[in-house]
Amino acid sequence: MKYDILLKGGTVIDAAQGLHAVCDVAIADGVIAALEPDIPATEATHTVFVKDKYVTPGLIDIHAHVYYGVTTWGIKADAVCPTAGTTTIVDAGSPSWVTFPGFREFIAKPAQTEILTYIHISGIGLVYGAVGEMHDLAYADPGRVAETLQQHRDITTGVKVRQGKMQVGDNGVAPLKLAIQAAEQAGTPVMCHIGAGVPLPEILQLMRPGDVITHCFQGNGDNIVDAKGRVIPEAWKARENGVIFDVGHGAGSFRYEIAQRAMEQGFISDVISTDLHTGNINGPVYDLPTTLSKLMHLGLSLEEVVGKATFSAAKAIQREEQLGNLKIGTVADVAVFEVLEGEFEFFDAHGTKFTGNQKLKAALTIREGKL
Ligand SMILES: [Zn+2]
Repeated sequence: MKYDILLKGGTVIDAAQGLHAVCDVAIADGVIAALEPDIPATEATHTVFVKDKYVTPGLIDIHAHVYYGVTTWGIKADAVCPTAGTTTIVDAGSPSWVTFPGFREFIAKPAQTEILTYIHISGIGLVYGAVGEMHDLAYADPGRVAETLQQHRDITTGVKVRQGKMQVGDNGVAPLKLAIQAAEQAGTPVMCHIGAGVPLPEILQLMRPGDVITHCFQGNGDNIVDAKGRVIPEAWKARENGVIFDVGHGAGSFRYEIAQRAMEQGFISDVISTDLHTGNINGPVYDLPTTLSKLMHLGLSLEEVVGKATFSAAKAIQREEQLGNLKIGTVADVAVFEVLEGEFEFFDAHGTKFTGNQKLKAALTIREGKL
């Protein structure tokens, strides 16, 4: 047989190739082998008929917490990703340079899901909530962080820092400056969590092109929209400079009203991620397709949300050559979705309920050519 798996009759959505059309997808030896209008089922060992379904690159969730057993937030990636069309999940800084070896050995290596990670600027990493990991700047060792990133480029994506008063105490943007120092040394982006208590303009002014702001629609104070509901000029300026804005839904970092206000003004997030952890996996987040459905309710098209969780996500973690697309020769990480029609209740991170009429549901997930 020429191919191992053939996905037949589905509508392919691939932002990287500007593709939105009915097309067959064939997989051989773990890579995308053919994309053609009509590939005979006789050419594949296993054919899946996916008519009326959508075939997309495997989803990439650039903000989640999967350091199970070491942090209070850690979930098991393989318990959620394969049923959610998610083939790559990125831990947003649970490991520090200190705890990274355990993450590599016991979390990333045995998993079926591809697991990558940001390294936290604090040597504590994200172990448990009561600890403000950057209350004391002495916890930051930019040199060691950079070294870890350089030595483990294969599974690392950059430096994580959380810039809310709860995490940094009276240290303002000093932790972000240290994170940038590590990132410059290693040649990687920074992912910065925003929250109340540190002026957002100060943070945005420091962010470099390619750095990521996560929790962009958080509404706990120091939001991207001001008291009058206007997107602050510094956010527009940062976007112009190439700063990437990511949703990072979480248990307290996605306020429906903020997203609505920002999106009405044309301020759309570049990437859509979940911030999945133990505190939101049983709601309101559940999985990445649910978060994508919420953004569809807020006005984005299926094509847009898929693009933001595949190609745009891959670019944010500097892996667009290999991940987040269905180009021939790239790794066969593929998802198939149904769009359910009906009445669906969604909740933001603050208990605000909204009813959507479409919901994305993963029908199958293929990782490295395996169903
Ligand atoms: Zn997080």
